[in-house]
Amino acid sequence: MAIGDFFSARPWEETSWEVQAACRGLSNIFFPAAAERPQARERRESQARDVCFSCSVMDDCRSFARRHREYGFWGGESEEERHSAGYRLIAPIGVRARNVG
Ligand code: SF4
Repeated sequence: MAIGDFFSARPWEETSWEVQAACRGLSNIFFPAAAERPQARERRESQARDVCFSCSVMDDCRSFARRHREYGFWGGESEEERHSAGYRLIAPIGVRARNVG
C-alpha cells in the first residue's frame, strides 16, 4: 500500500495536510514490493523523493512519519533516513533489521 492509498482510505478533515498529498494515486513507489532488491529500492525511492520534493506538505508529512515511526517513504525520507535522524523503527525487519542498530 502506498501512502496515497493510505490517505484515500482514511477519513480526514478537509483542513488536514493529507488532502494536499502529492502522492495520492501513486501507489507503488512509496512502499517496497516483496523481496525488493537494493537497486530497485534505490530507483523506487528516487522516484518517491522527486514526488515529495514537489509536495506542498512535505514538512507536515515528515513530522507525522517521524512521530509515528512509519514504514516506507514519507516526507522525502526513507526508513533509514528517519532512523539516522533519530526516529528508529519500532520493529525493523529484513534488510532494515540488519542495517539499523
Ligand atoms: S511529502 Fe511525499 S509522502 Fe508526504 S504527502 Fe507529500 S508526496 Fe506524499
